[in-house]
Amino acid sequence: MHITVIGSGYVGTTIAACFADLGHKVTAIDIDDDIVATINEGEAPIDEPGLDDLLEAHVGDRLTATTSYDAVPDSDVTFLAIGTPSNADGSIDLTTLAAAAEATGEALADKTDRHLVVIKSTITPPSIASTIEPAIKAGADGNENVEIGMNPEFLREGSAVEDFVNPDKLVFGTNSEWASNRLHDVFEPLQDDRSVPIVDTDPATAAMIKYANNAFLASKISLVNDLGNICKEFGLDAYEVMDAVGLDDRISERFLRSGVGWGGSCFPKDVAAITAAARETGYEPAVLEAAIDVNDRQPGRLLDLLTKHVDVDGARIAVLGLAFKPQTDDIRNSRAIPIIEQLQDLGAEIVAYDPVAMDPMCDRFPDIEYAASAAEALEGAHGTVVVTDWDEFATLNDEFDEMETPVVVDGRRIVDPSTEMTYEGLTW
Ligand code: NAD
Repeated sequence: MHITVIGSGYVGTTIAACFADLGHKVTAIDIDDDIVATINEGEAPIDEPGLDDLLEAHVGDRLTATTSYDAVPDSDVTFLAIGTPSNADGSIDLTTLAAAAEATGEALADKTDRHLVVIKSTITPPSIASTIEPAIKAGADGNENVEIGMNPEFLREGSAVEDFVNPDKLVFGTNSEWASNRLHDVFEPLQDDRSVPIVDTDPATAAMIKYANNAFLASKISLVNDLGNICKEFGLDAYEVMDAVGLDDRISERFLRSGVGWGGSCFPKDVAAITAAARETGYEPAVLEAAIDVNDRQPGRLLDLLTKHVDVDGARIAVLGLAFKPQTDDIRNSRAIPIIEQLQDLGAEIVAYDPVAMDPMCDRFPDIEYAASAAEALEGAHGTVVVTDWDEFATLNDEFDEMETPVVVDGRRIVDPSTEMTYEGLTW
C-alpha cells in the first residue's frame, strides 16, 4: 500500500519508518524543511533507539519525506500525526491539527474514489465531530469520498520502534466496513505469525480508549507515589511494599516504582485534556484531579528533602537527568523543568547534565550551566538531585566523592548509596 503520514515528529517519523519496514511505500510530510531534509538523508530528526537504522534502510527506496501534500490523493490511506498540545487551561489545542486536517482535505478535494484519513494524534472524543472532521470536509469542499478514522497510538518514547512492532493492541475507530478493512490491510504485515488483538470500534470510542489508557497509567503512578510518600513518612521502604503489592495479578507488577512523577508529551497533557473535556460536560473527574495534584507536588517534595540537608541559596546543585525518561531527548513536561524552576527561585547555582537532552533544555533554560558528564556536574556540588533514571547514573560511585558536600536526593532510586554520602530517596 502507499501510505502518507502527515507530521514527522516523534510519532510520525516512527510510524512512517515502521510502515516502510512492513513493506509499504510511505510518503512522510512535514512543514519543517529541516525535518524533511534530515529524514531524506536517512537520519532521524529525533533521538529514538532503532529509528536511524530503519530510516537508513528505507529512505530513497520505500520512504520519502517532503513538505508537499501532493502525494496525499495518490496514496491509499493518510495518517495525521500532528501535535495536540494543551491550552493554558489544560484543554486540548487543536489549532495545528485542524490546519493540517484542512490541508489534507484540500489535497483530496478532487478525489473521485474513497480515501481514508486516519487521525493518529490523541484528541478528545467530541473534537472529532466538532473540529477535525469539519476541517477535513471544509478543505475537501464537502467531497463525500473522504472518510475519517481514528487509530490512536500507544507507543512509548524511548522504545517507540519496538512498541510499534510489538503492540499490546490495535484500536481501529471507523464509520464503515470499508474503512475498517483498509486499516486491517495497513497493519496486516504486522500480524505475521502473531495475533495482535484488534479493537474495531467507532472513532469517538477509539479516541476515548487512548485517554482512558493514559489516565489509568498516570493515576496508577500517582497512587503509587501517594503510597510511597506515606511510606517515606513512616520510614518504610516503598519498593519493598509495592513489590509485594505487585504480586497481586489484579494489580500487576508494572508501574509500581514511586518517584518524582510523570512527565513527557503525553500523560500530563492527556490527563489535563480529558479532565478539561469532562468538566465541559459538567462532570468533575475527582480521581484524575487528585492524580494531577499528587504529580504536581512531587518535585517540591524532592526539593524539600534537599533543603533539609543543604542551604540551597547560593549553593551549587547538580541536576542529573533532564529528559522526561531515559532513552529519549524529549524534555516536554519533564519533571526536571519544575525542579530547575524551583531551584532557581531558591537561589541555587544549577549545573545540569543529561546524556542526550541538554540541547533542548538549553533552549528552555539558557542561563544555567551544563556539564559534559555526570562526573563534571557533581564536581564541587553541594547537593544533587537525580531526576531521570538513565542507566549511567546507576554506576556513579567515586564521582560523588568529588562533591563539596555529598548530599544525594534520588528521585528514581537509581543511585547506589554509599556510607560516605547523605542519601535520601524521594519515597523510601
Ligand atoms: P510532534 O510535535 O513531535 O510532531 C508533530 C509534527 O507535525 C512536527 O514535526 C511538526 O513540524 C509537524 N506539523 C505541524 N503542522 C503540520 C502541518 N500542517 N503539516 C505537516 N506537518 C505539520 O508530536 P508527537 O509527539 O509526534 O505527537 C503527535 C500526536 O501523537 C499527538 O497528538 C500526541 O499526543 C500523540 N502521541 C504521542 C506519543 C509520543 O510518545 N510522543 C505517543 C502516542 C500518541
